[in-house]
Amino acid sequence: MSGDSTALHAGILHVPINLATAARLYAPDFCPGSVWLVGAGPGDPGLLSLHALHALNTADVVLHDALVSRDILALAATPRLHSVGKRAGGTRTHQMRINQKLIALAQEGNRVMRLKGGDPLIFGRGGEEALALAAAGVTFRIVPGISAGVGGTASAGIPLTHRTLARSVVFATGHDVQGEVPDLDFAALAQTDVLVFYMALRQADAIATRLIAAGRAPDEAIAFVSGATTSQQLVTVATLGTAGGTAARLDQHAPTLIVVGPVLALREMIAPLQQAAPMTLEPAPYAAAGAVQ
Ligand code: SAH
Repeated sequence: MSGDSTALHAGILHVPINLATAARLYAPDFCPGSVWLVGAGPGDPGLLSLHALHALNTADVVLHDALVSRDILALAATPRLHSVGKRAGGTRTHQMRINQKLIALAQEGNRVMRLKGGDPLIFGRGGEEALALAAAGVTFRIVPGISAGVGGTASAGIPLTHRTLARSVVFATGHDVQGEVPDLDFAALAQTDVLVFYMALRQADAIATRLIAAGRAPDEAIAFVSGATTSQQLVTVATLGTAGGTAARLDQHAPTLIVVGPVLALREMIAPLQQAAPMTLEPAPYAAAGAVQ
């Protein structure tokens, strides 16, 4: 097992960004009485889209998931921030209540921003919210975000579809509505070059066992990518045979992706010189190059 933090994070000097170019862009109006379903990306505020930044500047009220980082929420111009994430206060806010809240706030004439981690439509239930808004006659916009499976793996130095090594990649959920391993076709998954599992940390052992039973080698590498693109990014590599024990030792609360596939071998060459420091809200204190990460 090997673990490492974001490569070359120490020694990165943060400088104020200059948005002069963006100031020449005109954004579509965020109209009162409408809802924007916005992806916040995997964590680094620098991975917000300009549409997302515009919505943060303009929204009257923001309903956000637990996964959206504090630095990103701090960019909202409005003080009306409501956490409706499943982890909010340890309770699960029922999806139906979120839908109703979005509709009611829009019908009161607010510009309503629904901010979700990653992309709103990838394991994010944004589709259900869009359907509810459409059924209620509320206009809305979907602002795509960088999904953790794409942005988080890139930040960890994993080239998902490296030519010659991978022609296929699957994004799968690691648990079903009961929190069990979902009823996935593991025979088909085992034939796929690269697998990326979301919400799978607690099921890592069961997933690895099923992949081995379906033909993957027990000594094949598996990577756990936690807090990807944030200053807490941690990549831990194990094998399918040791995945369960490794997963149990990781922080169970950190959002974590599980990646399996031959492209993991390239990480050893890519990650050591890869910069992955996120944008910070306030200037980060300068850490001397070579300081312990
Ligand atoms: N809509 C989100 C996914 C929500 S499901 C997206 O497109 O990324 C929540 C899962 O996403 C987490 O359990 C974890 O598997 C993954 N995830 C989200 N952010 C992550 C991050 N910064 N690092 C690693 N995994 C992350």
